[in-house]
Amino acid sequence: MVRALKLDGLDILIESLKKDYLVYAPLSRNGDYFFSILEEEKAYLGCAVTIMPPKRILQPEVQTLFNYTAVDGYSIETPPLDQKQALFGIRPCDVHAMLGFDRVFGGRYEDPYWWERRKNTLVVAANCTTVAEECFCSSWGTGPGLDANYDLLLTDLEDGYLLEIGSPAGEEVAIQLDVPPAGEADLSKKARLLARATASIKKVLGVKPTELHDFLAERFDHPAWQPQADVCFSCGNCTITCPTCYCYNIFEDYSPALKAGERRSEWDSCQLLEFARIAHGFNFRRTRLDRFKHRSIHKLSWMDQQYQTPGCVGCGRCVRWCPSWPVRRGRPTSLADPVEIIGDLMEAV
Ligand code: SF4
Ligand code: SF4
Repeated sequence: MVRALKLDGLDILIESLKKDYLVYAPLSRNGDYFFSILEEEKAYLGCAVTIMPPKRILQPEVQTLFNYTAVDGYSIETPPLDQKQALFGIRPCDVHAMLGFDRVFGGRYEDPYWWERRKNTLVVAANCTTVAEECFCSSWGTGPGLDANYDLLLTDLEDGYLLEIGSPAGEEVAIQLDVPPAGEADLSKKARLLARATASIKKVLGVKPTELHDFLAERFDHPAWQPQADVCFSCGNCTITCPTCYCYNIFEDYSPALKAGERRSEWDSCQLLEFARIAHGFNFRRTRLDRFKHRSIHKLSWMDQQYQTPGCVGCGRCVRWCPSWPVRRGRPTSLADPVEIIGDLMEAV
């Protein structure tokens, strides 16, 4: 198996992918980036993460699970999920988040919709040789470089692209490219660029991931939680834009006249008041304090305990998209920022 190639540009790879796959890539929209279907536009491989994570391609915000009719018995129709698709330019942190979904949707209760799309998805990841100011992937070991779990992996070497092959599906694409193998100098340059990117990450989680369970359990009733919750709008931005948040709700529309209906899933957010409401109106997390703490501790500790995968990969989306920016330690900070939340809890009581 050829392990690595050197590309002058990306067009040859993109054209090859388009023959067999529907290609999704980060595309520029008014100064921000969205994963969209790649047609004529140029894919963006710079450091900024997309507003919405690529989870929406594998688990759409709203998805029909099945349509049914109850005329002359029952008939059920499920949507086709066999479209071969490529996630082009997916960042290392988002690949790690996707692996987290694999654990959540592949454990005790397997989600066939996730897995059907997942097995038809080619992962064409891109290492980050520059980073954004919100990034703190190095605290989790989820970036800026990726070591495994890709089909193809790109690194921008400034004088071309290194293309590493990580699977037979990736090799099938690579062997169609008439380009030379990469040399030792290319691999060394990649290592140097990634070391430089790692060194340029400014944000650091104040507690090691392995120590977070105890740290947070000991601070469950820390007074710093309340002022944080007081300025939370319960808008849900931090969860909707988070690549590891997987909660959804199930809805059903049934027409007695037509004897037909649709069952669908829609993303949900633990930050919304109704999320934990149950029969008779009782709500397990009625207060903003309960909801804010739940999101923070679930991401930083409970998800790892439950699924052996962290609920944060340091992508920085919640940092960027939380609308509340309280002053902490003398400077404005994003309320949802896990680094700042841990920082508040580290302060003496
Ligand atoms: S909690 Fe924030 S930084 Fe961590 S993965 Fe989610 S959006 Fe990214
Ligand atoms: S922490 Fe920020 S983004 Fe999250 S619900 Fe509160 S105000 Fe919205």
